[in-house]
Amino acid sequence: MTLEDQIRACTRCPELAATRTTVVVGDTPPGARLLVVGEAPGALEDASGRPFVGRSGQLLDRLLTEAGLPREQVAVLNTVKCRPPGNRLPTRVETTNCRPWTAAQLERLSPSLVVTLGLSAASWFLGRSTLSALRGRVHEVDGRRVLPTYHPAAALRGGPAGAPMRLLREDLATAVRLVA
Ligand code: SF4
Repeated sequence: MTLEDQIRACTRCPELAATRTTVVVGDTPPGARLLVVGEAPGALEDASGRPFVGRSGQLLDRLLTEAGLPREQVAVLNTVKCRPPGNRLPTRVETTNCRPWTAAQLERLSPSLVVTLGLSAASWFLGRSTLSALRGRVHEVDGRRVLPTYHPAAALRGGPAGAPMRLLREDLATAVRLVA
């Protein structure tokens, strides 16, 4: 059984396993040097089985393309693979349950750089903190480079002229430069 098949069959979180439509394993194009990590699937991701396909995903695609790296060449995962019902936040237990899957994917992908979107994904790598304390800098975590930035949803909330949009765009441009 492949790693993806094992993740798709997982029922460690009873509520999520009972309510999900699909398990959103993630996009893992071979040879991807950049890995983008978010928190958990939303309704569109649950329905389609792919990460970041809604408005946030469209913004991510656009900013990556602007920076010179098409989304098709970027690996994209969530730390939690199944949609929490009603778009609630994943519980700590659910995040812990899913951690070994994400860790195994990370090990296999071995990207040159990881970009985390939002505080939850940043905390997965760097522990509890604030996004303002972490974002925009490359951190070394177990021999991996991790660059935290804003979640595209925060950039959309702040509008086209808001600081989160500007900083997300800057950080993704930095990430693309670092993996070039
Ligand atoms: S969220 Fe992760 S650990 Fe929980 S059921 Fe889905 S795949 Fe399994």
